[in-house]
Amino acid sequence: MSILSSLTERVPDRAFGPGSPEYDAGRTVFAGVGEPEAVVRPTTADEVAMAVRTAVDHGRPIAVRSGGHGSLPVTGGVVIDLSALDAISVGADGLVSVGGGARWGDVAAALAPHGLALTSGDTREVGVGGIGVGGGIGWLVRTHGLTIDLVREVEVVTAAGAVVTANAGTHPELFWALRGGGGNFGIVTRFTFQAARVGDFVGGHVRFDASDVGAILRAWRDVTVASPDELNSTLMVIPPFGPEMPGGPQLAVALQGTEEELRRLLDPLLSLPSVTEVSLAPVAFGDLLESAPPGRPPFRFVGSNGFVPELSDEFLASCEQALAVGAPTMLMLRALGGAFARVAPDATPIAFRDAQAFFMVNALLPADASDDDLAALRLQLDAPFDHTSGKYANFTQEYGDDVLATIYAPSALERLRRVKAEFDPGDVFRGAHHIAPA
Ligand SMILES: Cc1cc2nc3c(=O)[nH]c(=O)nc-3n(C[C@H](O)[C@H](O)[C@H](O)COP(=O)(O)OP(=O)(O)OC[C@H]3O[C@@H](n4cnc5c(N)ncnc54)[C@H](O)[C@@H]3O)c2cc1C
Repeated sequence: MSILSSLTERVPDRAFGPGSPEYDAGRTVFAGVGEPEAVVRPTTADEVAMAVRTAVDHGRPIAVRSGGHGSLPVTGGVVIDLSALDAISVGADGLVSVGGGARWGDVAAALAPHGLALTSGDTREVGVGGIGVGGGIGWLVRTHGLTIDLVREVEVVTAAGAVVTANAGTHPELFWALRGGGGNFGIVTRFTFQAARVGDFVGGHVRFDASDVGAILRAWRDVTVASPDELNSTLMVIPPFGPEMPGGPQLAVALQGTEEELRRLLDPLLSLPSVTEVSLAPVAFGDLLESAPPGRPPFRFVGSNGFVPELSDEFLASCEQALAVGAPTMLMLRALGGAFARVAPDATPIAFRDAQAFFMVNALLPADASDDDLAALRLQLDAPFDHTSGKYANFTQEYGDDVLATIYAPSALERLRRVKAEFDPGDVFRGAHHIAPA
């Protein structure tokens, strides 16, 4: 019997093959379109468990899709599309239950009437699943930490097809691994998060011309290091994308507080002569999130990321070097510190908690550029990484054991492999960054 027929029999009305809109939706991710043998769209944890057992019985690989913004398209095997597991409910004391296939824009909208918010990423369409098991560097990272720091419990389908609850007291090692170890340990059907009560935000953009990028970087560092946890910001240097998007350095910022306070905190940046536009106004938390572009842009890019323990002059100078590699280059710095840094390095698999910032750089090449062109350019972007530790898995699009060894500290990787051996010895679940059992 084919895998699609088995799934149709064992998960009735939830299994889809080529030709159906559900199949097309399940096989399409931000990075492209795959050709799995079947897509299952379960509506309960038990249906997820049945889909897992059926795929395992047939020896078929499983790909898990929440928002579809972190995985590569798959060929063959079964896609378990969690998009129907999108219920969001607010309980007592700001505890929020969210289905593993919900989207962050919907979470923000559901929490707003309760005066609550959850830090996630900066994009509405990104899934709760990929961020909930991967990290979550979002608008409140300095105020409340990573998204994974706010997970209090998960309902998870294991490789054996059992539905279990994991929290600090029950299956604590599985709970630890699922908060940063990615999709390697099970399928989270429900997260319980601790949301935060939020007040008024003021935020917006400051744009600059590129006459003195070094001065902007140094002023942003001075603001970041001196500011309270309530100020969150991202500094980007973007290449021009035609007359509509002229590019250049730009700051996105949000403060829980008043505009007067924000302007005072940003003064070292606002008083630079290169400022071309200041647009700051009261904003609701949900409106800080942006919509994702419809798909991956039509060029190739190469680059990397890392956590920056110290925004030293040397590191900032190396950022300027990376911007001068002779190809359009996009650089991002997100302020960390604050609540992110108050989490113990071994409390989650993401260990690099002493970071003052998160850094990412990508150089762009035309769609027909060769792998050799990309590799040559990648080498030229190395300078800043002399000053960074680790990498953030969810933004890392280089793969393999050597990359895994930079994403996780050695003790964390060893611990993740032990958890994997206990809960998924047959290697059923392979996250975007695959962790093999010990
Ligand atoms: C436009 C864009 C903007 C982004 N912005 C940010 C940002 O601001 N901050 C940030 O931190 N990251 C950001 N990211 C990166 C993002 O965190 C990852 O791409 C993340 O994996 C996306 O989650 P998803 O559910 O949409 O992806 P999916 O492709 O659905 O899932 C990614 C992987 O996560 C695993 N997974 C998903 N759901 C579950 C689940 N319920 N249980 C177990 N495993 C699961 C699977 O292994 C899957 O392969 C951005 C990405 C994009 C494309």
